[in-house]
Amino acid sequence: MLHQNKVLIFSAPSGAGKSTIINWLLKEIPTLEFSISATSRSPRGKEKDGVEYYFLSEEEFKKRVDNGDFLEWEEVYSGSCYGTLNSELYRIWDKGHIVVFDIDVQGALNIKKILGEKALSIFIMPPSIEELQRRLVGRATDTPEAIEKRIAKAKEEISFQPYFDATIVNDDLATALKEIQKIVSDFIRN
Ligand code: 5GP
Repeated sequence: MLHQNKVLIFSAPSGAGKSTIINWLLKEIPTLEFSISATSRSPRGKEKDGVEYYFLSEEEFKKRVDNGDFLEWEEVYSGSCYGTLNSELYRIWDKGHIVVFDIDVQGALNIKKILGEKALSIFIMPPSIEELQRRLVGRATDTPEAIEKRIAKAKEEISFQPYFDATIVNDDLATALKEIQKIVSDFIRN
C-alpha cells in the first residue's frame, strides 16, 4: 500500500505556532491529510460537523467507545471527550494519504505507542516560557487568568517533550518550516 499507512503526530503547548506549521505543511505536501477527531463537546461558533470535528452526543461517544471504534480517546477537559475513530484512519489511508494529527501530548504518545514505526511524533517547542507568555498576551484572546492556566499547562506539556521522535523549536518560523519539511520528507520516503 502506498505510504504503508503512515501517520504524523504534532503536539505543542498552545501558542507554540503549531497550527501555522501544520497548515503550511498540509499545503506543501498534498499527500498529507488532516485527521478529524470526534468530540462530545458542542460545536462553537461556525464549527461544522465533519469539518473541525465529528460532533457526537455524550451518549453516542460512549457507545462508540464501548464498540471499540476508537484508536484512542481521552477526557481532555472535564466532561468533554475527544478521540480518533479508526474509521477516520482508514478514510485517509484508503486514499494512499498520510494521516496528520494535531493532538495533546497524552493523545500523541498514546497513538505513537499503538502505531509504533508507522508513526512519527513531532513536538513543537516555543522558544521559551517568556516568549510563549508574550505571544499569548499579544494574541489578546485570553484573560490573564486563562493565560496563567495555559502557561502552567504548557510547562507540564513541555515535560513530555523527551518522549517524542523529533522536536522543532519554533524560534524563527522560516527555519522551523525548513526543518520540519526535511524531517517529514525523510519519514515519507523511508
Ligand atoms: P478544543 O478544540 O475544544 O479547543 O480543544 C481541543 C483539545 O483536545 C486540544 O487539547 C486537542 O489537542 C485535544 N484533542 C483534539 N482531538 C483529540 C483527539 O482525537 N484525541 C485526544 N486525545 N485529544 C484531542
